[in-house]
Amino acid sequence: MSLQLANALFPDIEHTPAYYEEKYPKRNTPEGARVTRFAPSPTGFMHLGNMFSAFIDKLNADSTGGIYFLRIEDTDKKREVEDGVDLILDGLRAFGINPDEGITGKDSQVGNYGPYRQSERKEIYHCFAKELVKKGLAYPCFCAEEDLEALRQTQEKEGENPGYYGKWAKCRNLPEGEQIRLISEGKSFVLRLRSNGVEGKKIIVDDLIRGRLELPENTLDAVILKSDGIPPYPFAHAVDDHLMRTTHVVRGDEWIASLPLHIQIFAALGFKIPKYIHIAPIMKMDGQSKRKLSKRKDPEAAVSFYKQQGYPALSVREYLLTLANSNFEDWRRANPNSPQSDFPFSVKKMSSSGALFDLSKLDDVSKNVISKMTARQVCCEATKWAKDYDKQLYNLLYANPEYATAVFSIDRDCPKPRKDIAKWSQIREYAEYFYDEIYKPTGTLPDNIKPQDAKKMLEKYLTVYNKEDEKDQWFCKIKAICEPLGFSPDVRKYKENPCSYKGHAGDVSTVIRLAVTSRMNTPDLCLIMKLLGRQRIEKRIHDYLEAL
Ligand code: GLU
Repeated sequence: MSLQLANALFPDIEHTPAYYEEKYPKRNTPEGARVTRFAPSPTGFMHLGNMFSAFIDKLNADSTGGIYFLRIEDTDKKREVEDGVDLILDGLRAFGINPDEGITGKDSQVGNYGPYRQSERKEIYHCFAKELVKKGLAYPCFCAEEDLEALRQTQEKEGENPGYYGKWAKCRNLPEGEQIRLISEGKSFVLRLRSNGVEGKKIIVDDLIRGRLELPENTLDAVILKSDGIPPYPFAHAVDDHLMRTTHVVRGDEWIASLPLHIQIFAALGFKIPKYIHIAPIMKMDGQSKRKLSKRKDPEAAVSFYKQQGYPALSVREYLLTLANSNFEDWRRANPNSPQSDFPFSVKKMSSSGALFDLSKLDDVSKNVISKMTARQVCCEATKWAKDYDKQLYNLLYANPEYATAVFSIDRDCPKPRKDIAKWSQIREYAEYFYDEIYKPTGTLPDNIKPQDAKKMLEKYLTVYNKEDEKDQWFCKIKAICEPLGFSPDVRKYKENPCSYKGHAGDVSTVIRLAVTSRMNTPDLCLIMKLLGRQRIEKRIHDYLEAL
């Protein structure tokens, strides 16, 4: 017992661990409920992999009636940025991955297991560190940077493993009187764990994705409090996840290497070890080879990318589910209209080798999601997006939401809705010809139609066009134009005998489509023309004729 040393190191710490154990009791959650946490550092950048792991936290908690909370790991002040917390919260909110508990704003938090910001937990860390010192499981180390450098060099020269351990750990066995004297002289120190790991021995940990892991025991006397009194990650992880009653730790698999140290700290503190879910990094194809999705090389690695591009939250979550559980797509096909929360998510079905990210797949998923939205929803979401990212489009949509809704209702809400839109940044292009302010006619004509024929078609069409025509009549008029110009009103007949015709009814509607929208491909042209109205249709056809 080193009570005197503990008091010399932490004179102001009055509470004992029992105080905190009582303050943060076992959670009152149903049997089998998982308590998970997302624990990012506010560095100003949120990687897609972070959001993926937050989503897995949420799925785990939601699917078991548990709790998912947000803890901010802000112990590294050098890497912290001013609005880092807001950025994290914005990212989570934008994609509907909102925590149930924890940090809710720059200066706010909810829940009984806080504070949820590590920078506010120093006293708690010190209480548990003090306990370790009392039990002789941690000790102060007064070695300066130069001492450690000298140690490194000697170890290298002698071909020994590097690090602070065993006989190399100079401060490990300093007499207590000496330790207390140095502390009272104000000498700077860090606190080290007195490792009981044995070289060559293994520990066994179960990971819920990877199964049984066999790892070498930690033999180093790791730093658990830096000289400024702040704990590095492993000690904070143990204290926080224990007191916050986390049952499942979801995090990147880069932490597996230091897992033996984490386990050792849990054991030294007498804490139950949580279940671990180590997620492999999200990968991407680069030519023929796979590599990690990189913050430096790939814009899609940043969570902000999805917001900027205007992917709906549901699309992103839906896509992340395809990455999380490979059976999700089959489930979705079998349950096209079920809410996402009905999917029986399973950690065991997660891949240990890293999900492969594919932007075009996300687009497909998202087109599907958007095709199921109502026109009003599309209008609403697109307007919201445009407000931040495309002012001109915003003004157009906002000025007349009824018109915009009518634009988006074409070929929607039907058994086979079109799947043209993957993200809100495509709305400008999609809706361009509905708005004179942004419409740029191109005056093109396909090679198979001669300008003089196109001219005759349109001149004739102008004489019969009526805005009130319903689809059948609209098409009858197009067919009627065909025969006198040498085009077949019937596509089948044309195909049977292509030499006898210049083309078919489809060519006539293509010319009209080009004249009024400058597109070869659009949703239902009859409905588009109704919405554009007589004046605009006539003007566009005249302009087109002039340009021919
Ligand atoms: N702050 C750590 C990180 O951002 C958290 C890791 C964890 O989830 O435990 O990587």
